Amino acid sequence: MNIVHISAECYPAAKAGGLADVVGALPKYQNMLGHKASVIMPFYHNKFRSSNTFKNIFSGYARMAHATYIFNVLVPEKIELGYDLFMIDIPGLFDRENIYSYADDTERFITFQIATANWLCAWESKIDVVHCHDQHTGFIPFMLSKIWDYRKFENTPTVFTIHNGEYQGQFTFDKLHFLPPFHSFFNGLVEWRGLINPLASAIKCAWKVTTVSPGYMEEISNFMSGLEDLLKAEREKCVGILNGIDTEVWNPETDPMLDFNYGLENADEGKQAAKDKLCKQFNLDPEKPLFAFIGRLVKEKGADILPDAIYNALTKFENKLNVLILGSGEHFIEQGLLNLEGPFRGSYSSFIGYNEKLSHEIYAGADFLLMPSRVEPCGLNQLYALRYGTVPIVRRTGGLNDTVIDIGDGGFGICHVHSSTADVMQSIKRALKFYDLKQKFPKNRKLMMQIDHSWNKAASEYVELYKSMK
Ligand code: ADP
Repeated sequence: MNIVHISAECYPAAKAGGLADVVGALPKYQNMLGHKASVIMPFYHNKFRSSNTFKNIFSGYARMAHATYIFNVLVPEKIELGYDLFMIDIPGLFDRENIYSYADDTERFITFQIATANWLCAWESKIDVVHCHDQHTGFIPFMLSKIWDYRKFENTPTVFTIHNGEYQGQFTFDKLHFLPPFHSFFNGLVEWRGLINPLASAIKCAWKVTTVSPGYMEEISNFMSGLEDLLKAEREKCVGILNGIDTEVWNPETDPMLDFNYGLENADEGKQAAKDKLCKQFNLDPEKPLFAFIGRLVKEKGADILPDAIYNALTKFENKLNVLILGSGEHFIEQGLLNLEGPFRGSYSSFIGYNEKLSHEIYAGADFLLMPSRVEPCGLNQLYALRYGTVPIVRRTGGLNDTVIDIGDGGFGICHVHSSTADVMQSIKRALKFYDLKQKFPKNRKLMMQIDHSWNKAASEYVELYKSMK
């Protein structure tokens, strides 16, 4: 099958979170199954751009509102990703470093979608499925099925994956003309509760809608920041498919970001070496268990309770543990975490920012990974933690609930019910006890490392879904 993925993020070209990891791996695994999967994304002026060379394979123009943007389609040269990566270069809108958070994001991503659809019209090969990811590509299913310019695709199946239902991209009707012209009869297909909503439009217009775990699919049918009724109405075409991880990128035996690679045989030595390095770098004690958090510092991730929970844990458990944080996000959370550095020097440290290499080193060197998320569509961090032999401590929600079984239930992780200081404290208490079980703890580490969360299974599930639309 000829499968085209469209996304705002794709690792290693541009990453803000799990979306990039998924779009950077799923097509590779689909190609391994004998299909022809490719990715279309914007061309940002980031590090990937400055450290690679690109070939221009197409030039065209995209009209958005009253502006006309010239765009080029670039492909990276001399880099083997396992799939074709097509990057849409739109000067004036995407020649900036960051992926999101600009005042004109609506204009940027609508133009990206128009340019993408215009370019797809020029393809000679037949496309079997267009697979769109998150709200930045949410108008594509509508455009391909209802807009005259793209009528070539009216019978082309579209799949839309919700990686995060909290971000919907809605805007007011005075910007309706940002979209290519269409009959007002179809206004209802882009609207939800008085606003234009790309996520709602995708749920209405895509042939199939998926989310990144079965648990999250159940949850958003009950609550998705206003879209739950729509999802309920469209439930029959929706399915939850659990994300996999790219076991070629995330493999402690070969990971080039680690100084000391390790597998099952030398897991204890490997993890200790990674921990020693982190403890030296962050002034922590390698004799004590290391608890870590990696992620966006936002309420959705439960990061707002971390300063309080860590303060209480380090006070109550008499400095029996180390804590290391890697993340960036809301200012008050960043500040709350930085404020702990003075009082708990030697047992606590934080790195506020984004650092891919450090994240790999922490998955390897930590003993426990904290994930007190309020919302977690799938969560990849716990899957990376398992692969690197680190015990995930998770709140029972969404994909965390689908992938982590508590040690009390014969499993390998630690689960709690609420995103609260009390629950996190209780879990840390249990973790400290578990760490002291000198035989069970290393045995559990090896058990976790053997759990298979590779993309093989999920890639086939997506292909079956595509086939069901034929
Ligand atoms: P999200 O909701 O942020 O997409 P996921 O668990 O699906 O959450 O994916 C998060 C991804 O982003 C993981 O690969 C994680 O390691 C990475 N990540 C998050 N924050 C950082 C950071 N500050 N530095 C490096 N990697 C990070």
